[in-house]
Amino acid sequence: MITTAILLVTAFILLWLLQRIARTSATELDLPPELHGATIAYSEKLFETMTPFHLLAKVDRIYRKGNMHFVLEFKTRARHRVYQSDIIELSAQRLAITGSCGLPVSVTGFVTTQVEGERQTHRVQLLDADQLVALYERRRAILAGTVEPNCNAGYALCASCSYRTECEPGAKAVHQREVQRYGQTGHLRSGG
Ligand code: SF4
Repeated sequence: MITTAILLVTAFILLWLLQRIARTSATELDLPPELHGATIAYSEKLFETMTPFHLLAKVDRIYRKGNMHFVLEFKTRARHRVYQSDIIELSAQRLAITGSCGLPVSVTGFVTTQVEGERQTHRVQLLDADQLVALYERRRAILAGTVEPNCNAGYALCASCSYRTECEPGAKAVHQREVQRYGQTGHLRSGG
């Protein structure tokens, strides 16, 4: 009786281990060709640099392949989509890594989206340091009130933005899109 119980427990543990291994392999196989054979160099690590401006970035994953490193960000979403904000986030991470410890980091980065348990990894081209500095300067100018913000092209971001009530371009863009979609007398959604 005891022997049977021990055998059952052992079989259960073995089955659980096999399922875990299969799941891990499948996850790794989902990675794009650039990352096949790569190893995880860092996970959930914070990097900080003071140049070209103060930047603190937490990186989900850094893969190492040969001498090159690749940044990867995980996102749980309703759809498998990559946004410009993902590219800016990964680019800032790259700058923080290179600025803080000089690791060579590829201009190719990855966003892994998870939708209801299914993962997809998307390849993205990162911004360089000059482009990030330009964004940083523009943000400072907008916050200082010396430059007007443009409505972003992504509409969906404006539609869910908590600043929409105080942002004229965003509110206008959302209104125009809803008029296009539902018509002047259609079922317009209330302003946020
Ligand atoms: S509503 Fe204004 S602040 Fe918000 S995302 Fe749109 S443009 Fe940017």
